[in-house]
Amino acid sequence: MIMQRIADVVWHRLSGLIPGELKQAELAWLASPHRHMSLLTRRRATMIVDRVRLFAFLFAVLTPLWSLVDLVVFPFPLWLNLALMRLIACAAFVSLLLYYRPSGDLFDAYRAMALLFAIPTVFYVASYTLLGHYQLAGISAAIGTGYAFLPFVLLAGLAIFPLTLLESLVIASPILIAQVIAGSLRWAILDWPSFAGAFWLLVLITGVSTLAGMSQLAFMIALVRQAIHDPLTGVFSRSSGEEVLDLQFTIASRSNATLSVAFIDLDHFKNINDRFGHEAGDKALLDMTGIVSSSLRHGDMLVRWGGEEFLLIMPNTDLIQAQAALLRMRSIGFGLRPDRTPLTSSIGIAERSVDQVKDWKALVDLADQRMYQAKQGGRDRIVGRPGG
Ligand code: GH3
Ligand code: MG
Ligand code: MG
Repeated sequence: MIMQRIADVVWHRLSGLIPGELKQAELAWLASPHRHMSLLTRRRATMIVDRVRLFAFLFAVLTPLWSLVDLVVFPFPLWLNLALMRLIACAAFVSLLLYYRPSGDLFDAYRAMALLFAIPTVFYVASYTLLGHYQLAGISAAIGTGYAFLPFVLLAGLAIFPLTLLESLVIASPILIAQVIAGSLRWAILDWPSFAGAFWLLVLITGVSTLAGMSQLAFMIALVRQAIHDPLTGVFSRSSGEEVLDLQFTIASRSNATLSVAFIDLDHFKNINDRFGHEAGDKALLDMTGIVSSSLRHGDMLVRWGGEEFLLIMPNTDLIQAQAALLRMRSIGFGLRPDRTPLTSSIGIAERSVDQVKDWKALVDLADQRMYQAKQGGRDRIVGRPGG
């Protein structure tokens, strides 16, 4: 009993720490990117590549500039060797900047980020090893010690990316491992206690950066959610629907998979507004989307295309399956009008492969034309492919 009370109190306190802007289902998204929706992934990939490019630019300028300091404080072959390493690193940053443009692809973003962190890590191991051969004193020793700070800068820099827990750890671990390698290369002269202290500090910085990245991600998830949903009904807005459709069409074309869409237009909707007021119309829209959303399959997406027009996107669904799904929806109904009579809709269905359309716009147009035929045929019906 007491234990239960304590557990409740602890849980209550802990759940208060969870970012308030997130919904229950979104919390898991902070841990790993597996279940992120494509709209979030694409925005995140773009943001990551933009930040990689910003950092690559800063590093490309600052890395060779520091050679001036090396020239003043270090003896002859050392400063030259370091300057050459800096030039190589600079060239690598410049190519990263030139080569990577945001594409919305998360794996491109991962590669860009991996390169951004790999270049200074390699530079760090190389320069640190080189410096190990010299006995420096005074100001040169101080600048030489500065070279050991690079991993701290990198791990702190991780904080600028909106990353999941898993992603931060995967990026940070090679840097931590490089630190261990750099330490063991200088095994004989290593001051163990200070090395262990520095390593512990790196681990702490990784922890703080990981939390910073996750809190950026939480904020981003909340903003993306608001941006992609229609404020009245909560279903996807037209712009996000177009983005997803574009993506789904490309995926389906590449693997020659089926992709169906249904254009749903509510019948005599204006009549509701005219007789019962705009608020009654809004409520009917909200009821309709609630009913349709609850009967969607996983992977289907309901989009508010215009006022009382909706587009249902059904990946990996052929015309027969799409027709069956919509017949089922129609039998459940689209809600009631304020006078308790059923609210009906006219529906046009089209599918990418059998209808042989060239892009997603043509697919939607075709479904729209069939919806119009359903209207002309007397409303409250579904029109698919003629003879199909
Ligand atoms: P049809 O059967 O031919 O589709 O007739 P309809 O009245 O549904 O079609 P029409 O295109 O003439 O009118 C659509 C109406 O939907 C007009 C507009 O006032 C209403 N509407 C569009 N968006 C909203 C909305 O957000 N809230 C409300 N209440 N009404 C809306
Ligand atoms: Mg209508
Ligand atoms: Mg309409």
